[in-house]
Amino acid sequence: MGNRAVIVGGGIGGLAAAIGLRRIGWDVTVVERAPVLDDAGAGISLAANGLRALDALGVGAAVREASRGQYSGGTRTPRGSWLARMDGAALERAVGTPIMGIPRSTLHRLLRAALPAEALLIGAEVESVTGPEIAAASAATAAPAAGPRAAPVSVPTVDPGTAPTGAPASDPTDAPASDPTPNPTAAPTIAPAADPNTAPVHRGGPGPGPGPRPGLGPGPGPGPGPAPLRVHCGDRILDADLVVAADGIGSKLRGLLFPAHPGPVYSGSTVLRALTERPVGLRTDFELTWGRGAEFGHIAFTDGRAEWHAVLDLPAGVRFPDPLAELRRRFRGWHEPIPALLDATRPDAVLHHDVNELRTPLPSYAVGRIALLGDAAHAMTPHLGQGACQALEDAVSLAAALAAEPTVEAALARYDAERRPRSQAVAAAARQAGRMGQQLSHPLAVALRNTAMRLTPSRTAISMILRHHAWVPPRLD
Ligand SMILES: Cc1cc2nc3c(=O)[nH]c(=O)nc-3n(C[C@H](O)[C@H](O)[C@H](O)COP(=O)(O)OP(=O)(O)OC[C@H]3O[C@@H](n4cnc5c(N)ncnc54)[C@H](O)[C@@H]3O)c2cc1C
Repeated sequence: MGNRAVIVGGGIGGLAAAIGLRRIGWDVTVVERAPVLDDAGAGISLAANGLRALDALGVGAAVREASRGQYSGGTRTPRGSWLARMDGAALERAVGTPIMGIPRSTLHRLLRAALPAEALLIGAEVESVTGPEIAAASAATAAPAAGPRAAPVSVPTVDPGTAPTGAPASDPTDAPASDPTPNPTAAPTIAPAADPNTAPVHRGGPGPGPGPRPGLGPGPGPGPGPAPLRVHCGDRILDADLVVAADGIGSKLRGLLFPAHPGPVYSGSTVLRALTERPVGLRTDFELTWGRGAEFGHIAFTDGRAEWHAVLDLPAGVRFPDPLAELRRRFRGWHEPIPALLDATRPDAVLHHDVNELRTPLPSYAVGRIALLGDAAHAMTPHLGQGACQALEDAVSLAAALAAEPTVEAALARYDAERRPRSQAVAAAARQAGRMGQQLSHPLAVALRNTAMRLTPSRTAISMILRHHAWVPPRLD
């Protein structure tokens, strides 16, 4: 099989996939629309599964070095009493590591450092992808009763009747690299945009023109092998044997492959967060405090600063003229270190995003030679801190499948079979964790939940956590 990959999106998932593919010998170009890293003001927790994935990619040691282990802390009530204690040492005994906290910008930097500059095409937006897979998806939606398709491409569909109404996606997660414009000699072929065979399907053409064959597999067309996929960004066209859609919750590629899918929906929660501008004298590494329909949490970093987040049950789109003042008002009377964290924050450092999720599961993470990965495939609520960890698992599994299988199509079928059940189960668990945690607002339900938490032995709590953290990566070497 050919070995040119284009990865659409340079977030955590896209960069990790690029590292994995390069480790198995592929030529990779990551195309990222953002010119700069614009979400540097947030942090992230990495659980054992995410850290093991980073180990498999060869960057685990560097990430651990820059992270702070979450040994102490837990979940509290607004008055400060403990509902559950975090036992990072017990977690470390069970899975080899506590959860680690790291600024997102640091994680991005370490992932980018594992890639050569010529593998990154920054400030370039992918407008479309053309190829038999996209043409078949488009044709299946446009004319479902038009008889057998020419291409032997299986394009799963979603019944819109069973799906919730879609909402426009906001992209709450971090945008990537701020590196300068990369080397134009990036691995995939860059062809002139004027080639009529490359007209994007969604701009009106029924598919690639007379050049590329309409199907996959050897056929009567020119040359051996399937027609290449073509990734269109600005005046560039990148030919690829594999396209990875790592373009986040608002994925354009997901829309092209699954036009009937309703897309992301609002979870009911909105999140405000920031990094403190100075170290805060924190006694714990990590805390969550649950009120009624509200959560405040922090993650401490190695340099003594911390990320805090406030999650609120609010209608989508609500914004505050002075977010920091609003949070001081809403969290007045809550225990320390909440006031201290807000006091250590510059007003302009506060980020505010609505939390969206892909509530209708995708029927497949692979269509022919196009794979979906990370939030593009399974955007989940942040209540378990697993979205990025699942993206990292995806990246390692994708590379391992490509190393093991004889064709890209077979590898992606394997990737889909391995990744979809697990990541969708984690997404469902995250939604449930939100409903039973931050989103719970009825006083009686909150009291019952709090009593149950106080009575739960820490052994039981650890084994519940391990259900998601105890993942063993496939080997890449
Ligand atoms: C409040 C909050 C807290 C979280 N905390 C945690 C946590 O503690 N632990 C954890 O594991 N997860 C956490 N997550 C989830 C995690 O942030 C995401 O799951 C993860 O960042 C997804 O990475 P991604 O690479 O798939 O997508 P993204 O990070 O969204 O990256 C997609 C990239 O694609 C680019 N892009 C999009 N379209 C195009 C295009 N057409 N052309 C070129 N580029 C394009 C975007 O600019 C973006 O850089 C949290 C999420 C939220 C909202």
